[in-house]
Amino acid sequence: MGRHVYLFGGGKADGDASQKELLGGKGAGLAEMTRLGIPVPPGFTITTRVAVEYALRGREHAITDEVRAEVRSALAHIEAIMGRKLGDLKKPLLVSVRSGARASMPGMLDTVLNLGINDEVAHVLGREMGSERFAFDAYRRFIMMYSDIVLHVPRSKFEEHLDRIRQEVALKGGLPASQWNAEELKRRVPDSDIPAAELEKLVTIYKDVVKAETGRPFPEDPESQLWGAIFAVFESWNNTRAKTYRKMHGIPETWGTACNVQAMVFGNLGEDSATGVAFTRDPSTGENRFFGEWLPNAQGEDVVAGIRTPLPLRRGAEGSAGTESDASLETKMPEAFEELVRVRDRLEKHFRDMQDIEFTIQRGKLFLLQCRTGKRTARAAVRMAVEMVKEGLISKNEAILRVDASSIDQLLHPALDPKAPKTLLARGLPASPGAVSGQVVFTAEDAERRAGQGIGVILARVETSPEDVHGMKAALGVLTARGGMTSHAAVVARGMGKCCVAGCSAISIDYREQVMMITLYDDQGRKNDTLRVKAGDVITLDGSTGSVYLGAVPTAPAALSDEFAELMQWADATRTMRVRANADTPLDARTARNFGAQGVGLCRTEHMFFDGERIPVMWEMILAPTREARERALAKLLPFQRGDFVGIFREMSGLPVTIRLLDPPLHEFLPHESAQLEKLALDTHTPLADLKKQSVELHEFNPMLGHRGCRLAVTYPEIYAMQVRAILEAACEVAAAGVEVLPEIMIPLVVTRPELERMRELVDRTAEQIFAEKGRKIPFLFGTMIELPRAALLADDLAHSADFFSFGTNDLTQTTMGLSRDDAGKFLPVYVEQGLFPGDPFQSLDVAGVGSLVRHACEKARSVKSDMKLGVCGEHGGDPASIHFFHAQKLNYISCSPFRVPIARLAAAQASLSEATSDSTA
Ligand code: PEP
Ligand code: MG
Repeated sequence: MGRHVYLFGGGKADGDASQKELLGGKGAGLAEMTRLGIPVPPGFTITTRVAVEYALRGREHAITDEVRAEVRSALAHIEAIMGRKLGDLKKPLLVSVRSGARASMPGMLDTVLNLGINDEVAHVLGREMGSERFAFDAYRRFIMMYSDIVLHVPRSKFEEHLDRIRQEVALKGGLPASQWNAEELKRRVPDSDIPAAELEKLVTIYKDVVKAETGRPFPEDPESQLWGAIFAVFESWNNTRAKTYRKMHGIPETWGTACNVQAMVFGNLGEDSATGVAFTRDPSTGENRFFGEWLPNAQGEDVVAGIRTPLPLRRGAEGSAGTESDASLETKMPEAFEELVRVRDRLEKHFRDMQDIEFTIQRGKLFLLQCRTGKRTARAAVRMAVEMVKEGLISKNEAILRVDASSIDQLLHPALDPKAPKTLLARGLPASPGAVSGQVVFTAEDAERRAGQGIGVILARVETSPEDVHGMKAALGVLTARGGMTSHAAVVARGMGKCCVAGCSAISIDYREQVMMITLYDDQGRKNDTLRVKAGDVITLDGSTGSVYLGAVPTAPAALSDEFAELMQWADATRTMRVRANADTPLDARTARNFGAQGVGLCRTEHMFFDGERIPVMWEMILAPTREARERALAKLLPFQRGDFVGIFREMSGLPVTIRLLDPPLHEFLPHESAQLEKLALDTHTPLADLKKQSVELHEFNPMLGHRGCRLAVTYPEIYAMQVRAILEAACEVAAAGVEVLPEIMIPLVVTRPELERMRELVDRTAEQIFAEKGRKIPFLFGTMIELPRAALLADDLAHSADFFSFGTNDLTQTTMGLSRDDAGKFLPVYVEQGLFPGDPFQSLDVAGVGSLVRHACEKARSVKSDMKLGVCGEHGGDPASIHFFHAQKLNYISCSPFRVPIARLAAAQASLSEATSDSTA
């Protein structure tokens, strides 16, 4: 298996940044920073290979004698560099044991800090550091963390004792603690106010809790503590929240997490010590400015967990809501700040990307504890990519590849309508952009329940933790009372592309009563009033400014930045596939064109029939007892259709428009209420009994496989004849006005060549008639969808009778996999959850199965017509992973819903670039 443990420290490292797969993101980052000469406390990384072995074959197989020996000698390496020893009673070493997967999974995996303390070590440490308080604070934190993560004793068992001690401290200080709830108490009596003697008492109580809960004493031996923590880190890969996170972010189950053991440095040794997190550029806007937060006299978990609201790094920065800017690190610890800025510059130049770093200052000396490519909003990703090209850091191609195509959905999110009246309630931090209104809920469960009923909700929490992730997912937006821009809520919401306002200190939440109290201030900043907002009340969040408003505020569409337009231009110049849109109305067509669509790839004509005044005519047509009666009804539908096509052709002037003739089974349009049928009987002078009989006859057991698509036109050719007339009359009308029209007529659900030829005759015959009537000929293409396996298998046969093919991958997935589009939702999620399907095949193409039919059909079609025009118009046309596959098949175009056009443009460019890279390395 090769080596299992990689060392770093003292300016040397076994690993480097390229070894993320083996060392995880954290391990690789620590190794690389060490190599760069950046101050990093020494440590070692146990590889993901060990983790995978652990998950597959269990502890006994994974943690062999060899691994144990490597860990022991790696520990000796740390001890030598630090001049300290684990468990030593003169110079004890404390270590952290941290998880670190290939992809960052913030807060999902476990970490144990301050490991190596027991009763004796605590006293030695207290004497050495000159602070008993520090030593016992570290000790009680360690017992709680270790017990929670390794021994599975819930934190609440410890917290209740901590709360009691807080209360005693408050009462001794003459504070009215009995009137406060737990949250308020925590705020009024912070950890730093609890004296050493009380902390020492707490340690004894905590150990009693462990004994009572587990039946065994808390492990005093530092080496067994170490192994316990290592096992727990490996096991945390399979906890429920990590699994949920992986599913949401498409992280493979098989990766496993590496385990990093590193010498502790302390940010909580007094006012000359501190801890913080920073991004080398603003992760929310992308602006090129050093951005971060810090807390004096604190441990790292305090910043991330949002227990105290952190302070800004830079002087005058508007980092944290409600804080004084002269509390910045720049002012308070100028030397450490200067060094941090130097580290920042070094990292940006070296990695040529924005880095997310964690640091600790121990008694004035700076240490870096983590560095990884920072998560960012889509807006920030675009801005950074474009600006880094201009700064000469990266190439245009790199910039295109830097932006996650599916994330640019976020840019298309609405913002608050600037003109709408609004009542500002409070301000927090602008943690993740977007604007949403919804009912307030206070628990993740409530968020999920109400969202399941179709209600838009905003999840309000004091702070969020990984247990809340499912509620955040269900909610439209997230609001927290505490925590900064790097708190759990902020990082997770940003990753989800969800609007979030964090650290809104004017609110206090009472979970028991299900209310939040909002302190209102007057213009001079004086406390004015208090407002009570209960569960179910509606509020609005603006995640771009951090504002919270009362009631629902209207939103305005997103405005795209200049950088976005520039990046898209580069993408357009790079991609080979064209991008069209699925648009059924002139308005959709306009939206699509504004988003850069190069034509319409699918106009579903049936969608035009659902409008109020059209549907009764449609009923008349469907239920018509004779061909003449049907033709009369069709003649009434003709002007509606023609009008729509005129609108679409105008919007798409100069670009191709593929119009698909009627597809769905007729019974889908039938009236549901008897009054509607009665009125129809009266209007059309048809006996009601006949209409009823006809509707019963239209019933099908398997409508998806029934009388739909071109089968309708085999039995009722007049329907398609009317549609062709509407298309070509519209084309003549628009062309007469000087607009260039490029119609493409497409037949759905074709299985055989004779079927397609029948349709071609029908279309050509109708076209000739119209052109003769109008005295004008409009060139048009005739083609078919490929959406049934037989059509794909015999695509060469069909190619003789078609000018183009468009893959209808929705139906092709349905019929290839035998999965009903309408019913699969009931069991598909279970299939995905249990790993039987890698994902929902209706969302991302099943490349192995459906994909091979597509590949086969392309080859067959080109064997007949080498330049056959090939496209795709199923939902997969807007899915980045599927787009890579379509690019590989050299399709001429992909077509997707208008809002996904920018995603498709970028993904198509990325597909071209990835192909170029793999070609050049092949
Ligand atoms: C398809 O089947 O992929 C398609 C585009 O057609 P529809 O979704 O309308 O069935
Ligand atoms: Mg279809």
